[in-house]
Amino acid sequence: MKSGALTPHFPDLSERELERYKRQLMHHGFTPEHQSRLKTASVLVAGVGGLGGAAATYLAVAGIGGLRLAHYGTLTLSNMNRQTLMTDERIGEARVLQAKDRIKELNPHVEVEICNEKTSERNVGDLLNGADIALSARPNFDERRTLNKGCVKRHIPMIEAAMNGMEGYLFNVIPGLTPCLECLYPEDDPGWKELGFPVFGAVSGMLGCIMAVEAIKLLTGYGKPMISRMLIFNALDMTFRKVKVRRDEDCPICGASAGEKPSLGNIRRPNPSRCSCKDTHEIATGLSILSDT
Ligand SMILES: [Zn+2]
Repeated sequence: MKSGALTPHFPDLSERELERYKRQLMHHGFTPEHQSRLKTASVLVAGVGGLGGAAATYLAVAGIGGLRLAHYGTLTLSNMNRQTLMTDERIGEARVLQAKDRIKELNPHVEVEICNEKTSERNVGDLLNGADIALSARPNFDERRTLNKGCVKRHIPMIEAAMNGMEGYLFNVIPGLTPCLECLYPEDDPGWKELGFPVFGAVSGMLGCIMAVEAIKLLTGYGKPMISRMLIFNALDMTFRKVKVRRDEDCPICGASAGEKPSLGNIRRPNPSRCSCKDTHEIATGLSILSDT
């Protein structure tokens, strides 16, 4: 094990944990220190639908230390085309409870907290308390904007991902460094209905997996997370592209008029000289990509 490169304190990994994570520890450059950093990290997953449920699953099996799952409501039959954390026989039960049970079955090392509520101004402080990063995976603009505001205020990075039909997008909100959700989407789409769009579980799941990968990179410093870039894909013809996104200096949430400039928190800043992102000179503002469930 290398010493002291990432953090002054690493919890010990048991032999059983080292065996559990052996295959990911085979990645060149992904060391037990990186694994320990995952173990000490806590993630708020706002939404455990097709998107957040997949992200939570893969963070859990990767060895995240703590998950806080927030999602209001019970499981319905029409949820089942995209749920892998929940079962047909438990339709009608709270989603977060089922998600917790399944995650604990998958990896008993993960501490799981649940909140059967929507993300709101009232509870966002508690939801983010102690979180190292937040995943934005709710199917409405109100909750997403509330989470974005809460993360910027508390200097907590957020991964924003959403989909509509076969299309999806994802970008990382790192307060003080990148645009926030409000910079790119200052207005709601008036035609959008919370559960009024089509979804294949495989598409929401693939986006959730990308969320998990970005979270692992941001939390550990391994690899190169997307910085000021938005990933956009269309699974109908499998086209993927990244576009450059820019902060709005007048953003009411993260701009100069919003007050103190936040710091980067405990996220590892990538080495700019290693960034391979292509500058497409595109600004993603105005893209009509919607939300996810
Ligand atoms: Zn902003």
